[in-house]
Amino acid sequence: SASTAASEDLFRRALAVASGGVHSPSRSYAAVGGGAPRFMVRGEGAYLFDADGHRYIDYLSGYGAIILGHAPERVVEAVRRVAPDGLLFGTPTPLEVELDERLCQVIPSVDRVRFTASGTEAVMTAIRLARAFTGKTKLVKFDGSYHGHSDPVLVSAGSGFSTLGIADSAGIPPGVMEDVISLPYNQIEPLEEVLFRQGAQVAAVLVEPVVGNFGLVPPKPGYLEALVEQAHAAGALVIFDEVITAFRFGYGAVQDRFGLRPDITVLGKIIGGGMPIGAYGARAEIMDLVAPLGPMYQDGTWAGHPLSMAAGLACLEALREEGLYARLERLGRRLAQGLRDAAGRAGVPVQVHQMGGAIALYFTGEPVDDFAGCERSDSERFARFFRAMLQRGVHLAPSKYEVWFVTAAHTEADVEQTLEAAAEAFRSLD
Ligand code: PMP
Repeated sequence: SASTAASEDLFRRALAVASGGVHSPSRSYAAVGGGAPRFMVRGEGAYLFDADGHRYIDYLSGYGAIILGHAPERVVEAVRRVAPDGLLFGTPTPLEVELDERLCQVIPSVDRVRFTASGTEAVMTAIRLARAFTGKTKLVKFDGSYHGHSDPVLVSAGSGFSTLGIADSAGIPPGVMEDVISLPYNQIEPLEEVLFRQGAQVAAVLVEPVVGNFGLVPPKPGYLEALVEQAHAAGALVIFDEVITAFRFGYGAVQDRFGLRPDITVLGKIIGGGMPIGAYGARAEIMDLVAPLGPMYQDGTWAGHPLSMAAGLACLEALREEGLYARLERLGRRLAQGLRDAAGRAGVPVQVHQMGGAIALYFTGEPVDDFAGCERSDSERFARFFRAMLQRGVHLAPSKYEVWFVTAAHTEADVEQTLEAAAEAFRSLD
């Protein structure tokens, strides 16, 4: 049946006790017509099952943390192996050394790493570290980019936020806002100008090398190279937020695909195999500033949590499988091309971006290469498309800003079924 009674009932209860009925605004259906979000009870491979027993092909994929699909045996087994020996010691553990070694080995710009419990904390700390290293204060970031929910990066942020039509979060002290300069992504001139005028005060330029938070927007040729060069010329550090991009398009950080070395790299999502994680890393000279070696403080009860370490290691091990990234690329391409074709047949103007298993669908006839371009994507059309897909058993993030993530568990049949649903969904838009 098409009943959503169980989700609706849970949502009614949730509304009375959790703000907005959800624990992350990005989970709410506020931007897609409201009502009860689907409450999911189980995941298996490419599928999610909701409280009413419906099965969905999932492309939300834990907002990108679930690259192997849901409940992959090797990761679940690793968690099962570790859990009985104790959930948390608050001491160093052998597993964290293994994951440290793995990340430092695979990402050449990272000599030393530190784990946190989330990407938010890792970005927050990376900014503090850049300020400690340079002795400067200002942060340059890019409009619409999401870097977690610490104060400075919620200035002109995107994702969850823009979905609800909020430009800057309330509650950020004016002093914090004064130290943040937000610029359009993919344009070098505004950055050049800011660095020319205020470079002496800029501690860091923070960027997602491939944007994954207003859809998926790759850098224009030469853009990142110029960004790094100019930041360094101004004595600012470059922070690459690779929370979404690392281990997404290949085994390692995306910076190496561009042949670039940021000063600080932020990691998260995939490296925790579906368990809570964040990390920041840099060359030794910078990481030596972190306590106890140096004066920049970061700590955390959950940092390097044993279950996150076990799940992360098992996930990274599984990602070494021969041909896995090539398969994600193939499925991604098929899905992207199929979406373009289906939209074309239905007369719906769209842009579809794709890299590996990551896909963005924009309801606009104009090319998208920055946040303003993404903003032109028709929210109303997206909302109706989202609903039509949900009804046909395809689960997307309830926001036009979010990427679709194909996982290693998705099959060609899943993609074809998705495209059949999409063809109907596009046709239903008129
Ligand atoms: N940086 C980027 C690029 C992200 O996409 C996210 C989360 N979507 C974060 C930081 C924050 O990570 P977390 O949700 O683990 O705090």
